[in-house]
Amino acid sequence: MTVQQNIPLKQLNTWRVGGMAEYFIEPETPEQLVEFLLKNSDRFAQITWLGLGSNVLIPDAGLTGLVISTSKLNKLYLHEPNLVYAQAGVPCAKLAKFCAKNNLVGGAFFAGIPGTVGGALAMNAGAFGAETWPLVNEVDVLSLDAKVMRKPANDFAYAYRHITHLSNLSEESYGFLAGIFKFELAAQTEDMQASVRALLKKRNETQPIGTFNCGSVFRNPPGDHAARLIEFCGLKGKKIGGAAVSIKHANFIINENNATAEEIFRLITEVKNTVFQETGVTLVPEVKFLGWQESQNP
Ligand SMILES: Cc1cc2nc3c(=O)[nH]c(=O)nc-3n(C[C@H](O)[C@H](O)[C@H](O)COP(=O)(O)OP(=O)(O)OC[C@H]3O[C@@H](n4cnc5c(N)ncnc54)[C@H](O)[C@@H]3O)c2cc1C
Repeated sequence: MTVQQNIPLKQLNTWRVGGMAEYFIEPETPEQLVEFLLKNSDRFAQITWLGLGSNVLIPDAGLTGLVISTSKLNKLYLHEPNLVYAQAGVPCAKLAKFCAKNNLVGGAFFAGIPGTVGGALAMNAGAFGAETWPLVNEVDVLSLDAKVMRKPANDFAYAYRHITHLSNLSEESYGFLAGIFKFELAAQTEDMQASVRALLKKRNETQPIGTFNCGSVFRNPPGDHAARLIEFCGLKGKKIGGAAVSIKHANFIINENNATAEEIFRLITEVKNTVFQETGVTLVPEVKFLGWQESQNP
């Protein structure tokens, strides 16, 4: 596996913005990655995991240090009749299809999440009342000093779009190599493909499909919807440069016309400030600001 330098990240995230990765690797197996980190981890000031880039804002100046792309870690198989092993780079949609094909209940919601299994584990991705972590049996994690550990799900606490390791691992110090998910076996008569199709139809009706965006920008505050608050403040259609608040779904910001990451960042900040001024609610971004100065993040 070779380390590449100055790799453009624009095509590797769904907002289609951002600069280059200083160093970039795409391991094909966990073993390759372990071997690489054993020899090289000290070389990099920063290590960033990247899935399909569907929930990140990458700065125009790019990312310093090493970016680990999981795109080639895509083994997916039945570990036991109701246990699925999925490596970090497996697209969520593929996991949903795999569940349907194998008569496993509970994975249909993954069909509409345009990210990877690794990203879904990191974000506790969810939709239509279901989420990732209740389905997790075990995960394979890799610490940045190259130790692979199989951890039971209850080593982690999960909440809405958020997880924490319960003992000694800080968020920056490990990544997910794979998840082992537990599903229920469906009754023979259930049409699994039909529930996937129904969820996708619902999603297509409510989201600005076909635009460059990162899904919901803000988490929903308890008992309310970020989209409702943003719409209430009259921000639908609000633009900064090439970035715009979607007319179709107010919690989506779309890259309408060659926006820069900076323009998207400013628009997120403005939406958050306006909602606070008008309603008193502090919206918390769901999007991850990779490589931005934490103290300045909206
Ligand atoms: C149109 C659209 C619709 C969406 N709908 C939903 C939805 O309904 N529900 C929902 O929850 N999300 C939704 N999202 C957001 C996004 O798809 C999810 O958060 C997804 O889980 C992110 O996966 P990813 O592979 O793209 O992760 P990335 O965007 O690449 O990364 C997200 C975060 O996870 C970290 N990460 C990625 N891989 C790993 C790994 N292997 N180990 C450790 N950390 C890792 C990254 O460092 C980053 O902090 C939507 C996005 C879009 C564009």
